[in-house]
Amino acid sequence: MVQVFVSGRVMTPAGLKPAAVIVEDGRIAGVVEPKEAPPDAVVRDFDDLVLMPGFVDTHVHINEPGRTEWEGFATATRAAAAGGITTLVDMPLNCLPETTTAAALAIKREAAAGKCMVDWAAWGGLTDDNHEHLEGLAAAGAKGFKSFLVDPGIDGLTMLSEEGLRKAAPILARTGLPLLVHAELPGPIATAAPALKDADWCEYATYLRSRPEEAELEAIRLLIAVCREHRCRVHVVHLATMRALEELEAARAEGLPITVETCPHYLYFAAEDIARSATLKKCAPPIRSRANREGLWEGLQRGTIDLIATDHSPCPPAMKEAAAGDFAKAWGGVASLSIAASVVWTEMRMRGLPLDKLTEWMSSAPARLAGLNKRKGAIAAGMDADLVAFDPEASFEVTKERLVYRHPVSPYLGERLHGVVEHTFLRGIEVTRDGTPAGVEV
Ligand SMILES: [Zn+2]
Repeated sequence: MVQVFVSGRVMTPAGLKPAAVIVEDGRIAGVVEPKEAPPDAVVRDFDDLVLMPGFVDTHVHINEPGRTEWEGFATATRAAAAGGITTLVDMPLNCLPETTTAAALAIKREAAAGKCMVDWAAWGGLTDDNHEHLEGLAAAGAKGFKSFLVDPGIDGLTMLSEEGLRKAAPILARTGLPLLVHAELPGPIATAAPALKDADWCEYATYLRSRPEEAELEAIRLLIAVCREHRCRVHVVHLATMRALEELEAARAEGLPITVETCPHYLYFAAEDIARSATLKKCAPPIRSRANREGLWEGLQRGTIDLIATDHSPCPPAMKEAAAGDFAKAWGGVASLSIAASVVWTEMRMRGLPLDKLTEWMSSAPARLAGLNKRKGAIAAGMDADLVAFDPEASFEVTKERLVYRHPVSPYLGERLHGVVEHTFLRGIEVTRDGTPAGVEV
């Protein structure tokens, strides 16, 4: 069956224009002027809704197997579909076993089989103990590796030492796959700790002081040095401090293969506005000042920050310690899969940024990071027909019903956001909440 998706506003690699997207066997066969659409095709007219490539989210903690009560393939991919995310890449931790061997990846695949509403891929993990498994993971289909330069604070994946990083770098360079790094070093965090022992941990300022910017800066300097020495691909996940941008920009100008992501919560919230005991906003590195938020937006516009990923990291609601309101005890992680694109677009719209940047930051650039850009992240001939019909002018209030991941908990509840995902198509078929899970590993 040939289908044609028509809209007055199709997001093509050349920008927005009226077009007909011809879809055959789940792939885009061509993008033509509306009047050139084949006459015998099944036509779906979106009028003035923007037809965009599905979003690609390269930073999701699905947690299955092992912690499916936190989140799972069925619930995470359902939420992704609701938010227009048609491909997500799962992190190697919070699930058990952690994805540090090809055997663990096989267990994850078994857990995912038949449950996914959207397509997915996996990152492997890199620790001090699994260097001999990296090439096996690459051969088994991992898109790259994730590691922590600080204790991840959960059993399973363990932190990577500087020595372990240096030892892994030549192996990583051989695979050609990116190393995604949680870039905080423990030194500055340990230095900050004694002064905060008797501080009021219900105050956000206390938590903020406990994760100083120096922890990020020192880690990023180390990564730049290792990248320069070994030319392995390095990707800084969830950059939270604008102060690292200058050095990152210089490293890239030097030609080092470093990419950078930030997350919706760093672009939307600001430390000054975080109320006492608002532990839903706890994440690491922490949400920093308003001025810092503006700096991150500038980093995106300058191209120093390549992409935006959710770092969707949910937990059972009790672990957010809402009753105690204690930032020390609460689990760190913000969940936002089903609304992430709207969060980002709301802020973009306010700043007068164009919609094609949303596609670059949340579809094309993440697809490139994960090596999926031959199939995902653009509306062009040969690509998977993963499409989103988006209304950038419409707005909605974030309610629990909008969240649709496992636990409807979010710091965005009650916020009014712009940009409504009206329809999500995976390989030409509309994904609905009660539809057949048709997502596969890519
Ligand atoms: Zn994460």
